Amino acid sequence: MCAKLLEGKPIAVRIKEEIKKEVEEFSSKPVLVSVQVGDNAGSESYAKSQKKTAENLGIDYRYHKLNQDTTESALIEFIYKFNSDTAVHGIIIQMPLPAAIDYKKISQYISPDKDVEGMHPANMGKIVFGKAKILPCTPAACMQLLKETGVKLYGKEVVVVGHSEIVGKPLSLLLLEEFATVTTCHIATSKALKLEEHVRKAEILIVAVGRPNLIPGDWIKQGAIVIDVGINRVEGKLVGDVEFENAAKRASFITPVPGGVGPLTVTMLMKNLVQAYKFLNSK
Ligand code: NDP
Repeated sequence: MCAKLLEGKPIAVRIKEEIKKEVEEFSSKPVLVSVQVGDNAGSESYAKSQKKTAENLGIDYRYHKLNQDTTESALIEFIYKFNSDTAVHGIIIQMPLPAAIDYKKISQYISPDKDVEGMHPANMGKIVFGKAKILPCTPAACMQLLKETGVKLYGKEVVVVGHSEIVGKPLSLLLLEEFATVTTCHIATSKALKLEEHVRKAEILIVAVGRPNLIPGDWIKQGAIVIDVGINRVEGKLVGDVEFENAAKRASFITPVPGGVGPLTVTMLMKNLVQAYKFLNSK
């Protein structure tokens, strides 16, 4: 391996230290409300780890679990209660939601000022205008990792693989804002057999698909920066979307999976909460 390992954990530790100091200066604790609907061991354990992170930073994390048969309108009403509660600064909805509830619809009912996941259409829209204060967490984590490399994005060939609302689309816009030349690939790129061609020209490659080894290591341009967002479980082990060992022989920087983007994503959530707290208290 000759690539430098771009680990999220030490960066997350440093940013959390900054958040903690900032929170200590606040006149009250920022309050983050987390709502889960129904039983799901995965999201329960994720919420537990969020709670631990939040509490270590001096944030009051309030977890609410609603019954599996909660209706969409009941969930919206529950959210409204926190939208109007001035003691609450951030609201997150744990995924997955029961099949009868549409997350895209629900995310529109969270007050944009308290939307610490950055998924409200108003916050997404602000990205287009370069005015976003609250960024979706995973794209923000990717941008932070790129910043840590010290490499300027201006004029760089950046290829983003995956165009989901949560990662690929907002990330492509954030990169454009930095004057990168952005190509966004998706399923149709693969079906047209053009993925390899695009990936090979990438000076910076960011992959967020959820398919192990989608990107063979020998597609990586010599000296490229590789950010692997994908999380896949293969034979009990977590792996990304990029064939790590071979990619690391060619890349200049590469994120590990696990330990790359993941640890920074939750940190960005807390950073958004601090942002929301400051904004709500300045109103
Ligand atoms: P989605 O399933 O919502 O999106 C996947 C994207 O990949 C879609 O745009 C899809 O295109 C595209 N795609 C699917 N197959 C191919 C293919 N063969 N070639 C090119 N593009 C393809 O997933 P998410 O964006 O939510 O997550 C992506 C991955 O990132 C997952 O592994 C997830 O676990 C991980 N993740 C990690 C996070 C972290 O903090 N580290 C946070 C969030 C996600 P289309 O829609 O057109 O089919």
